[in-house]
Amino acid sequence: NHKIKVGIVGYGNVGRGVEVALGQNPDMELVAVFTRRKPETVNIQTKVAKVVPINELEAYQEAIDVLILCGGSATDLPVQGPELAKLFNTIDSFDTHARIPEYFSNMQAAAADAGKTSIISVGWDPGLFSMVRMMSGAFLPKGEDYTFWGKGVSQGHSDAIRRVAGVKNGIQYTIPMEEAIEAVRKGENPKLTTRQKHLRECFVVAEEGADQAEIESTIKNMPNYFSDYDTIVHFITEEELKAKHDKMPHGGFVFRSGVTGMQEEHQQIIEFSLKLDSNPEFTAQVLVAYARAAVRMNREGQVGAKTVFDVPLAYLSPLSSAELMKTLL
Ligand code: NAP
Repeated sequence: NHKIKVGIVGYGNVGRGVEVALGQNPDMELVAVFTRRKPETVNIQTKVAKVVPINELEAYQEAIDVLILCGGSATDLPVQGPELAKLFNTIDSFDTHARIPEYFSNMQAAAADAGKTSIISVGWDPGLFSMVRMMSGAFLPKGEDYTFWGKGVSQGHSDAIRRVAGVKNGIQYTIPMEEAIEAVRKGENPKLTTRQKHLRECFVVAEEGADQAEIESTIKNMPNYFSDYDTIVHFITEEELKAKHDKMPHGGFVFRSGVTGMQEEHQQIIEFSLKLDSNPEFTAQVLVAYARAAVRMNREGQVGAKTVFDVPLAYLSPLSSAELMKTLL
């Protein structure tokens, strides 16, 4: 059959999402899930593919058209990405914004010589939001960009509160400020401080006997993570955390507020938003569409590292160019 054969590397939240997303795409099929853990300890949801130790990956070069790398951005992808880009076409959702240029050049060095195609930093931000920011700036060169995130769970901030002494468990929601969004929507082009754009709300389970006032103040004054924001800290029980905070919602808004006309008299506002019940599952859906694009680009000889800016939009779709033109243009 001519289905695109996919391997998943790393079976966490995004890996699970990719597994299910492949089931919504009849032109693709999952060959195997590759993991650093003992395969018998990793139970996949669909049961149709096998779970294979990652050190056996090399033997799958013929059997797999593209790998979707689902490891973490902090320590997994910087190592796994360049190693695997030498052997396979790859897709990943590397999201450490400041390190993207460095990661790109490592992926470029690995993929280009090997004749493979690697599309990096795919997802919603970076990813879909990056595309909207780029297009909007090209259409409205005179204007302001605004990105708001949330309401949603920030993994990085949740990890940071869990590292505070006396904290047993916790979760952090990033919440965009309604007044700021409204001002942007009205075309007021406000100058917004960090504090005026987002609020941080934490739900914390304290260890027994821990000093809650101390925990609250440590969180609120944490540099980089919380000190530049208004932060609300709630103490709750482990049961309540499990019952009410076990989902990973997220989303956000990208705005471009520009002006056109001889006197710059016309305001032109672009607003794009996402409201996601599950951040990892949505990210996975985007990764799968880009896997299709990577295979097509590789077949055409477009090799090396790519970002969402380099991928022709039509390559994401299972529809032909003629069908796209007839139905969507
Ligand atoms: P995660 O659940 O922590 O999984 C990361 C890796 O940890 C997995 O690949 C897996 O590798 C290992 N792992 C998972 N569960 C485990 C367990 N129970 N015990 C031991 N190891 C386990 O991370 P994630 O939520 O899937 O997110 C992955 C990355 O996606 C994030 O780092 C983030 O950078 C990125 N992301 C990007 C966007 C975007 O818009 N661009 C959006 C969301 C997320 P093994 O199977 O090899 O052990």
